[in-house]
Amino acid sequence: MALKIWFNGSLVDEANAKVSVFDHGLLYGDGVFEGIRVYGSKVFELDAHLARLYESAKVIRLKIDMPIAQLAEATRKTVEANGIVDGYIRLVVTRGVGSLGINPFVCDKPQIIIIADSIRMYPQELYDSGMKVICACTIRNHPLAIPPQVKSLNYLNNVLAKIEALDAGVPEAIMFNHEGFVAEATGDNVFIVKNGVICAPPIQAGSLEGITRAVVIRIAKSEGIEVVEKNLTRFDLYVADEMFLTGTAAEVIGVVEIDGRAIFDGKPGKITQLLRKKFFDYAHGRTK
Ligand code: PMP
Repeated sequence: MALKIWFNGSLVDEANAKVSVFDHGLLYGDGVFEGIRVYGSKVFELDAHLARLYESAKVIRLKIDMPIAQLAEATRKTVEANGIVDGYIRLVVTRGVGSLGINPFVCDKPQIIIIADSIRMYPQELYDSGMKVICACTIRNHPLAIPPQVKSLNYLNNVLAKIEALDAGVPEAIMFNHEGFVAEATGDNVFIVKNGVICAPPIQAGSLEGITRAVVIRIAKSEGIEVVEKNLTRFDLYVADEMFLTGTAAEVIGVVEIDGRAIFDGKPGKITQLLRKKFFDYAHGRTK
């Protein structure tokens, strides 16, 4: 069924939602975006996603000429118009139509696009048995280049690491920062468990401040599990008792092998499984 797309102020048919070839989002990856889940017809953590979107925009000097509440309303309207009960939203703000030079200030006005669709991330098998990953050679963007907290349309850094993963026959790669500490996966945040304690790289190590990450940390603490944010090395990953990734699309997924080394017994760990279950309880409104 053709989708209704929110396109610069109104809902239009998918076939009419067309972007100019002069849009700097296309020409330079100049823009910001969010990926957001819908659970049971409710937009999950919408406020947090919009706050991140506006902050990302601010950092790249892109002014979204729409109050945050109005964009929230537009997002909910798009979900409703497409009858999405459980699905995924892609909210994109491009720099807009400009010229062939990189000067962003000649661009007309930002384009605001909202797509609400269904999603299937990884096969269920992978959630049940856990995924294999590798450590990428491509390091995460230096924070003085593009701050990794900015969710920009320029994902080449992550794409290069993803290619390494796919070349190695696994779905994901762990990226390290310029100092050799764990940053994140190509589209997810990373956690390990060691001796019953959950450890996560701090955001300053070079990751997006994941909204799923924040929810999972909150849930873990409420379950009485200690959570420590500290720099992690490749060694820490190799000798972890458990490892898992979090992200809007991937949700909570166990990692069972890294660079050919089994994580503990090569099965998703107990804490991983607990957090995955509790995450869904929360996402579906069964717990507060
Ligand atoms: N890191 C990167 C690079 C991402 O693109 C994402 C989102 N896919 C995440 C982490 C996870 O963030 P969130 O939980 O907010 O989706």
